[in-house]
Amino acid sequence: MPRPLLALLILPLLMSCGGNAPDKPVKNDVLAADTFKWEVDQFGDVRVIRYTVPGWEQLTLQQKKLAYYLSMAGLSGRDIMWDQNYRYNLQVRRALEKILGDYKGERAGANWDAFMLYAKQIFFSNGIHHHYGMDKFTPGFPREYLEQLISGSGAALDTKVVDILFDPSVDAKKVSLDRDKDVVLASAVNFYGDDINAKEVEAFYKAKAQPGDTTPLSYGLNSKLVRGADGKLKEEVWHIGGMYGAALEEVVKWLQKAAEVAENGQQRKAIELLIEFYRTGDLKTWDAFNIAWVQDTGGTVDFIQGFVEDYNDPLGKRGSFESIVEVIDPVATKNMEVIQKNAQWFEDHSPLLPEHKKKKVVGITYSFINAVNEAGDAAPSTPIGVNLPNADWIRKVYGSKSISLGNIIEAYDKSSGQGSLKEFCYDQAEIDRAVKYGSLGDNLHTALHEVVGHASGQLEPGVGNPDATLKSYASTLEEGRADLVALYFLMDPKMVELGVMPSLEVGKAEYDSYIRNGLMVQLRRLKLGDQVEEAHMRNRQWVSAWAYEKGLPDSVIVKTVRDGKTYFHIRDYEKLREIFGQLLREVQRIKSQGDYQAGHDLVENYGVKVDRALHEEVLKRAENIKTAPYAGFIQPNLVPVTDANGEITDIKIGYPEDFIGQMLDYGKRFSFLPDTN
Ligand code: ZN
Repeated sequence: MPRPLLALLILPLLMSCGGNAPDKPVKNDVLAADTFKWEVDQFGDVRVIRYTVPGWEQLTLQQKKLAYYLSMAGLSGRDIMWDQNYRYNLQVRRALEKILGDYKGERAGANWDAFMLYAKQIFFSNGIHHHYGMDKFTPGFPREYLEQLISGSGAALDTKVVDILFDPSVDAKKVSLDRDKDVVLASAVNFYGDDINAKEVEAFYKAKAQPGDTTPLSYGLNSKLVRGADGKLKEEVWHIGGMYGAALEEVVKWLQKAAEVAENGQQRKAIELLIEFYRTGDLKTWDAFNIAWVQDTGGTVDFIQGFVEDYNDPLGKRGSFESIVEVIDPVATKNMEVIQKNAQWFEDHSPLLPEHKKKKVVGITYSFINAVNEAGDAAPSTPIGVNLPNADWIRKVYGSKSISLGNIIEAYDKSSGQGSLKEFCYDQAEIDRAVKYGSLGDNLHTALHEVVGHASGQLEPGVGNPDATLKSYASTLEEGRADLVALYFLMDPKMVELGVMPSLEVGKAEYDSYIRNGLMVQLRRLKLGDQVEEAHMRNRQWVSAWAYEKGLPDSVIVKTVRDGKTYFHIRDYEKLREIFGQLLREVQRIKSQGDYQAGHDLVENYGVKVDRALHEEVLKRAENIKTAPYAGFIQPNLVPVTDANGEITDIKIGYPEDFIGQMLDYGKRFSFLPDTN
């Protein structure tokens, strides 16, 4: 099942505190300067960062309205995600909101600080369980202190809920995948009635499925499964008039406005189908919406909304409410189009053996977008790339949309500061190149990898599907092949000639970063003693390690140890490009001929094993940079400007700095569900 690509970047920590700067709209030319404050808060194991929306001012009023209405629709469903995560989350959140707003006692001291940490963690995770680790948060203050805050603010929290917050044994995990337990009973998530077990759920849905159905519905996607008065299981469907109806009514109000300003008929059709789905809860309409959505490719504004990803359900059936509103990234999209138009030139000039080149290569479509607003399951923690819809049969028949969230990736990049670069770069020139050209280099790498890389090359006649011939090595070899296409052309003067990069310095920055990461930095994601398993990590290592070894006689990449710290320094970029070309030709040969043994040897000899001493060193150096492993975002504020008649004449974008401030604001504006549902 396709999943959002989670941001696995591990980035250095910048200490800062939650600011209280006024929420002023900021012009984009101001943002281009280095003065924008990317990271605004840090607590527990998370960082809170901000992202900007480049090009917002260039949108038409109609496009701005569309993005605004879709954002309001998404935010209106925010409560749903809280309630889905745990049945008492809304009650807890409202108590926190009341305390933060109205507590009259002293707001200082160790207990208050521990309470603030607890509150921030809950807001960040949309509930009392860690958004990623799934464990229930432990309050770092005594129960009596919470009771004091409650009575001193007029907040309301049932005693039984307070009991749960302070009892580590109750509802300890949001989602448990522990095979020794019944995963439904052991998970606290609010998708199933209290006494329902996994076996019953499976039996319930087995009875619904029709064998041989080529267009199966996403059974269970939009309901809670409960036991009726007759003892039989039944679905409480999430729709207007049913469960979560009060929030969905608000969502639909805004979607109706969005439909009126849709950019084209196909987009309007998609929005109207989503409205119908929320009204009826009919899963056939959900499929119809997804088909209309995947065929809507003409607009500048796009969106993801609904009960989408199912990984919060231990049985992978029920979808969490999420919303992402996006606009096309004009610069990255222009670069991608230029590369796509020249896909045949790249194929003709690639170092592949002539018989492995495609005579007619068609670039793959891929979108670079900028997020405008995220809500529900997509906020504050967000994916950096998405591939939807999830239903396999729709993907097969109608295709899918693949997107990279450019401004989110940029914010990760910029907010990380220079700590990691300073620790792992060989010299100041390498740091400067990374600061100046790193983002563009990454961006063009992704474009070449996705648009040209995966589309390039052909199999020899009679050679079967690589999944069959190369088996478990197929995926890392394919990812490495696409990387090598990108690397080879990132140092090609053609890229400058096409106008997508100002000079080959961009290519050099990308080479530096690839080698640094592939030979060294990415090891910090592994535990000591582990080998490299993940396909992308493997391919970065085998590409880099093979190139390093082949370049040894000419000192192409030089390994230096300074003050006990290892550095890999590229001495000859031209020669390294040739080496990447040789390896690309060989990997394409392996794929084109289905040469399992050669693929096995390449991956096993260069991509799997870890140098223990270097690994230990990298882990130690990574610790110096002190990294919060998770990050999430404050959303931009969209503020309509109206004339005397109340007509919207513009929509201004602002970038708030105060995480808790935004959470309290959302609590006031977008809270539509009762405490328990
Ligand atoms: Zn790929």
